[in-house]
Amino acid sequence: MNVMAKNLPAFLNSAPKKLLIGGEWVDAATGKTFDTVNPSTGEVIARIAEGDREDVDRAVAAARRAFDDGPWRRFKPYDRQDIILKLADLVDRNFEEFALIDAMEMGEPIARRNNARRRVLSLLRYYAGMATAIHGETVENSMLGGDFTTFTRKEPVGVVGAIVPWNGPMVSWIWKLGPVLATGCTAVYKPSEEASLSAIRLAELLCETGIPDGVVNVVTGFGHGAGAALAEHPGVDKIAFTGSVETGQKILMASAGNLKRVTLELGGKSPDIVFADADMDLAVPGAAMACFGNTGQVCSAGTRLLIEDKIYDEFNERLAAYAKTLKVGSALETDTQIGPLVSAKQLARVTSYLDLGRQEGAKVISGGARVTDAGRDKGYFVPPTVFRDVKPEMRIAREEIFGPVVGTMPFSTIEEAAKRGNDTHFGLGSGVWTRDVGKAHYLANNIRAGSVWINCYQMMDAAMPFGGYKMSGYGRESGIAQFDDYLNVKAVWIRTA
Ligand code: NAD
Repeated sequence: MNVMAKNLPAFLNSAPKKLLIGGEWVDAATGKTFDTVNPSTGEVIARIAEGDREDVDRAVAAARRAFDDGPWRRFKPYDRQDIILKLADLVDRNFEEFALIDAMEMGEPIARRNNARRRVLSLLRYYAGMATAIHGETVENSMLGGDFTTFTRKEPVGVVGAIVPWNGPMVSWIWKLGPVLATGCTAVYKPSEEASLSAIRLAELLCETGIPDGVVNVVTGFGHGAGAALAEHPGVDKIAFTGSVETGQKILMASAGNLKRVTLELGGKSPDIVFADADMDLAVPGAAMACFGNTGQVCSAGTRLLIEDKIYDEFNERLAAYAKTLKVGSALETDTQIGPLVSAKQLARVTSYLDLGRQEGAKVISGGARVTDAGRDKGYFVPPTVFRDVKPEMRIAREEIFGPVVGTMPFSTIEEAAKRGNDTHFGLGSGVWTRDVGKAHYLANNIRAGSVWINCYQMMDAAMPFGGYKMSGYGRESGIAQFDDYLNVKAVWIRTA
């Protein structure tokens, strides 16, 4: 069933979407807008203000004022918690609309909405709880020459520039908004040009919570314009970035001007390791969806599938057979499991890797070409694709494709599995499928990645840290570890005698 026709959100009317600066919804200073497209159909669904340097200047000034002089500073932890809880309730009441917006703009299958709802709400409520749980420490000192009371305070880092990708528009936004509000920072948020609408709608709801003007500002636009301006802006104290390695490197360089703090959540080429002793009924669909979930547009997707040589042929056959059962179609069809890729650009990127894989000598055993049949030919559909006989040196085994494409390779010993698994400059996710607790622990200890999922994949929880090793970046999203990135620690000394 297609859910769109009767439920089109009023939010998607014809008026161009504006920027949120200092509590006002305004056009871009240049008056420019850009189109956003439904990847299931190729149709334009909305026009969005194209913010640029001047808009970023105004937004940073508003965030600066809100941080330095505004009423936000006087908000107690309870009051900030209250804002986040109100936002969570508003998001809960409006969640069907968010699911539709992300399906229509990003192509996230509408069937995933129940999981997405729980994920988003649990994050918001976790951050609300953390607003009243941040505290410094009293410290015993050994100073001579008097008595001194020494303690630390945790203080908000200041104005945060949050720059995010398109592949999980709501979660990426909340991963950065939550700690901003919980710690008492202010922010300028730059969504991806490919998926800005849910961020704009979320900001509309945020304005209903009683949050002071300027605490959160939203500047939509492109990376080379608004994004670059935010990254180098001297009024910004921290950049919280999620996106590609290449952009992360540019942001790091741009941040040097005022030595702003930077956290980077970047890409991956995550290993997923299957032993012959694994429960195959769990491992086959588990390994398939580790890569094909969200059409493979997941930073921690398990895209390098290492399979113990004893079961290499059998596992490949079962994986390919499973991949062929997955329904590829419009993100708005309730039985779609694999939606479109986000854009024509992403389609071109992914199909170029399909050609490359063949040229490099890997063998396609499922999928392998764009879907072009009537009804789906206007959308950006690529079926789940399995390449077998992939070699570690092939580019399809080394580069992030960011589509539903998995490459399989055999291994014979656990040491080889670990070595192969670590043979990448990334270190974001990893998976292990085995019934042997010894193998599970060995790989949990020896894989260099921010997450190791054993007999499961892509598990995420508000209380568990998520982030990268190596070139997958640094800093963590969710979990207690994230908060230190949004806080300064101040040492206070008081002579008492
Ligand atoms: P991207 O790097 O192209 O863009 C991300 C954001 O950066 C966008 O908002 C973009 O406008 C902005 N940007 C681009 N150039 C910029 C510049 N010079 N200065 C400042 N901002 C700039 O990434 P994408 O294509 O949107 O997303 C896909 C990438 O994101 C993949 O590599 C994926 O692995 C990664 N990702 C990582 C995580 C994680 O948590 N580690 C999560 C999701 C996605």
